[in-house]
Amino acid sequence: MKNKKITRKITQGMYVLSTNGGGCVVDAVSQVSSGDNPLIAVSVMKSNYTNELMHKNDRFALSVLGMDVSPDIIKTFGMNSMRDINKYEYVKTSEVENVKIIEESLGYMVCEKVDTIENETHTLFIGKLIEADILNDGEPMSYNYYQENKNDLIKVETEKGKTAWVCTICGYVYYGEELPDDFVCPVCGVDKSMFEKKTS
Ligand code: FE
Repeated sequence: MKNKKITRKITQGMYVLSTNGGGCVVDAVSQVSSGDNPLIAVSVMKSNYTNELMHKNDRFALSVLGMDVSPDIIKTFGMNSMRDINKYEYVKTSEVENVKIIEESLGYMVCEKVDTIENETHTLFIGKLIEADILNDGEPMSYNYYQENKNDLIKVETEKGKTAWVCTICGYVYYGEELPDDFVCPVCGVDKSMFEKKTS
């Protein structure tokens, strides 16, 4: 392939996907039909805990992150796993149609799951929109903008005196002298080669 980076130019946004028991930051979201209750598709990494929950649950919500979203929301939902922390303790949420939504967002879409399509790395979940609202004014953050500005948007701080490996894609931090060869980022799924060593 000559340059796969052109796929970054597919317009994708930044969203918090939430479902009962968990949630994470996602970028691959699309409205794929029209009408009163359009279909919304969202792709979720298979190694992500939220993927497991999405298979069990019937409903999910997408909260649209704006350009001025607080970095803490991206950090909490994008760089951690619910296996380790309860993300909802750190971020203000409310409940709509029994699904948590992020208050500091441009708005939300609550969907009823209607189909799933599996591929090697991700599951594509398709939902029918059942409730939606606009919460705040603002421009949505694009995934491309986030990738190009993430060093300024989110500072990854590691614990002093410990050797850390930081995922260059999502910011997940692994502590230890060496990363195991078969290590896969538990948040975004990339392999060892995408991690950078950091000592402070
Ligand atoms: Fe990662």
